[in-house]
Amino acid sequence: MSTNLPPLGMLAELTHRCPLQCPYCSNPLDLMKANAELSTQQWSDVFEQAADMGVLQVHLSGGEPTLRKDLDTFIEILARRGVYTNLITAGVSLTLDRMKSLADRGLDHVQISFQGASSQVTDFIGNMKGAHEKKLRAAEFVRQCDLPLTINAPIHRYNIDQTDEFIKLALDLDAERIEIANTQFYGWALLNRASLMPERAAVERQIHTIELERERLKGRLLIDFVVPDYFADFPKACMGGWANDAFVVSPDGTVMPCHAAASIPHMRFHNVRERPLAEIWQHSPAFNSYRGTDWMPEPCRSCERKHTDFGGCRCQALAVTGAAENADPVCSLSPFHGHVQRLAKSGLPNAQLTFRRLGLQTPAVARVVPVSRDNPVGD
Ligand code: SF4
Ligand code: SF4
Repeated sequence: MSTNLPPLGMLAELTHRCPLQCPYCSNPLDLMKANAELSTQQWSDVFEQAADMGVLQVHLSGGEPTLRKDLDTFIEILARRGVYTNLITAGVSLTLDRMKSLADRGLDHVQISFQGASSQVTDFIGNMKGAHEKKLRAAEFVRQCDLPLTINAPIHRYNIDQTDEFIKLALDLDAERIEIANTQFYGWALLNRASLMPERAAVERQIHTIELERERLKGRLLIDFVVPDYFADFPKACMGGWANDAFVVSPDGTVMPCHAAASIPHMRFHNVRERPLAEIWQHSPAFNSYRGTDWMPEPCRSCERKHTDFGGCRCQALAVTGAAENADPVCSLSPFHGHVQRLAKSGLPNAQLTFRRLGLQTPAVARVVPVSRDNPVGD
């Protein structure tokens, strides 16, 4: 099903390079090297095309987007075209001069991720000594440049009981917003699922804390909360629906409906090096495979929520059920929901973490297999 509607948002993964090594990173296990990345001219052209298509917001991400020296140029192009720019950064490479330069070029908003609410947890999960202190300084630089700040708090077993400390951190750093997002199990997080899976009691404590803090801080701090998938009864609309209003461009120019879509092995994605962005958005078979609701099998086909959550996440359906077109197994109406409930209990305290790194050997990748009758937790 092709579309005449333009996309509203774009996630530009400028690079997979990053000084941190988070074991929940949503980048693919097969990380790209710098020499695979689009050139300055190619990215600039992509951003001009996106603006021509009517994209309103570009999220500049990675890896660590500030490692691209030409980030300033990209922000200048997008600002000139009236596109809102959001920088999603780990913050450890930022200096005040760089922040000022990005702000001068027209950057609109900054999100800094904290792997923990304390240096002990941040430095451990990011596998970088001193990372937490650097992030604190980066947040100050953002405020010195009068830019709005969001703190990203990716949550899992190792930091779920720091929820109230994360909120205090956001207040101390004068952030407008905090995004408390429980880890979604794609990429490196899927590989580390057993280690990162929180316990139900911790999830319940977290939800209670968030309810209280939202009430207490109304009008002062916006608290966005992404509930942990495996403990939910209904899925989220992944990316607002497959190829519905946003797309992702990976460092080498591959265009995808979501950042984890490359995990669907039968799917072929086009690249901005070979086709115009608008043609890919409208006509690419990968985009049209799960666009809208016509492709849906039961139970989604006859479900009243199908225009709300679009059947959830295709990558999660594949990872847990073995078929991308199935209803997201997070859904209580899915015949595979029992697998998700078992997976939610499969956390292993003190299980070994595999930190993100370039050149991980493929046998580790082979550990991630769908559930089956003989293998009910998919490990
Ligand atoms: S999740 Fe961690 S390793 Fe991955 S890009 Fe972000 S900061 Fe880097
Ligand atoms: S059956 Fe499909 S459309 Fe209905 S709630 Fe579940 S995932 Fe969503």
